Amino acid sequence: MDYTAARLEMVEKQLKERGITDPRVLDAMRVIPRHEFVPENIRDHAYDDSPLPIGQDQTISQPYIVGVMSQALKLTGGETVLEVGTGSGYQTAILSLLARHIYSLERFAELAEGASDVLERLGCTNVEIYVGDGSQGLADMAPFDAITVAAAAPSIPGTLRSQLQPEGGRLVIPVGDAKEQFLEVITRRGNRWDVQRIGSVRFVPLIGTFGFKGD
Ligand code: SAH
Repeated sequence: MDYTAARLEMVEKQLKERGITDPRVLDAMRVIPRHEFVPENIRDHAYDDSPLPIGQDQTISQPYIVGVMSQALKLTGGETVLEVGTGSGYQTAILSLLARHIYSLERFAELAEGASDVLERLGCTNVEIYVGDGSQGLADMAPFDAITVAAAAPSIPGTLRSQLQPEGGRLVIPVGDAKEQFLEVITRRGNRWDVQRIGSVRFVPLIGTFGFKGD
C-alpha cells in the first residue's frame, strides 16, 4: 500500500474539505506517518476516516478530530504544551512539529512505552512522556501555553484550568458523559476562563482524580 498517497488524500478529503485551514496543521499531518502509530495488522486502515483500536481498550483518534483539536490550540511554534492521553503518540508527533516542547501524560505504561519508541524512531526530540494521572495535570512544569485532552471529562478539571498560562492560555477538552460530549475550548484571561463549544464528539473516558472513577 502507498501510505504517502493515502496520507495526502486524507489531508485533502478529511481535513481540508471539512474546514481545517491552519497551514501548519495541514503540513504536519502531511508529514507524520500515521501508519507507524497503529498496530501492524491494521496498518492499511491507518488513513481511514475513523478511530482505530490501539490496545488496552483505547483508540487512536480519527484524523479529522486530531486536526480540529490541533487547530484549536492556535500554535505558532514557541509554545509549551501539555497533552493528556498520549495513547498511540500520534497527536504528540503532530504537536511536536507545531510547538516548542510537548509534555504528554498517559495512564497506561504499555501505551506510553509504545508511543515513546515510535516518537524516538521518528526523531521527535522535543517530547517528554510520563506515566500518570493527567487529570491532575503536571504542576511542576506549569504554566502551559496550551493543554489538550484526548479523553472525555465529566466537567472541566479545575487543576488543568489553573495550569494554563494566565494571558491567553488555551485548553481543548471533550466534556460530557459516555453518550454525549462536546469539544470545548477554554481561553484563560487572568482569573477569567472563556468557554467556547466547537463540536459534538465521542472520546474514551478520562479516568482519574478529576475525571471519571476507574476500576
Ligand atoms: N491522541 C491519542 C488518543 C488516545 S485515546 C491517540 O490518537 O492515540 C485517550 C488516551 O487517554 C488513552 O490512551 C487513555 O489511556 C488515556 N487516558 C485516559 N485517562 C487518562 C488520565 N487520567 N491520564 C492520562 N491518560 C489518560
